[in-house]
Amino acid sequence: MKYNGIDLNSEISISGITYSSAVDGVGFRDVLFVNYCPHHCDGCHNPETWDKANGRIVTLQSVYEDLTKSGLTNITFSGGEPFEQARELAFLAKYIRENHGKNFWVYSGYTFEQIIADPEKKVLLEQCDVLVDGRFEKNNRQQNMRFRGSLNQRIIDIKKSLETGEVVLYDLDW
Ligand code: SF4
Repeated sequence: MKYNGIDLNSEISISGITYSSAVDGVGFRDVLFVNYCPHHCDGCHNPETWDKANGRIVTLQSVYEDLTKSGLTNITFSGGEPFEQARELAFLAKYIRENHGKNFWVYSGYTFEQIIADPEKKVLLEQCDVLVDGRFEKNNRQQNMRFRGSLNQRIIDIKKSLETGEVVLYDLDW
């Protein structure tokens, strides 16, 4: 399978993978932390991911095998900035969904509006289920918020938002 010119032999720059996280979306999730982020938010928890030189270059085949070996968890893309490697992650999400039926959350320092205005970024949005959007804002930080770091960030139901053309928040109370 090839999607937008990307296949399993294509490469991606990652920071690492955490397995069975309960804090990066609903349920237990394997989290792929990609490398490189242009946002440089004050108070970022992962500043080691900002610099391109810190990335580990791996094939999508290798990431695919790592993310599907448990078979039990859904998947979250975090970073770093996932939308800086949008085509690679879009391929990965599509391929894993079609072969394993998992759902995908994606975190971004970009807003929903910025992402849908950029066709290069929108390809990833279309392959995911939930977006947590916006930069981390230290002054808007609040303790005990579920799945986000600051109040400006929104947890967005991607499918409903793309259907209606406006942001629909994800219902966390199901
Ligand atoms: S967008 Fe995320 S990874 Fe990038 S600087 Fe902000 S908090 Fe850190």
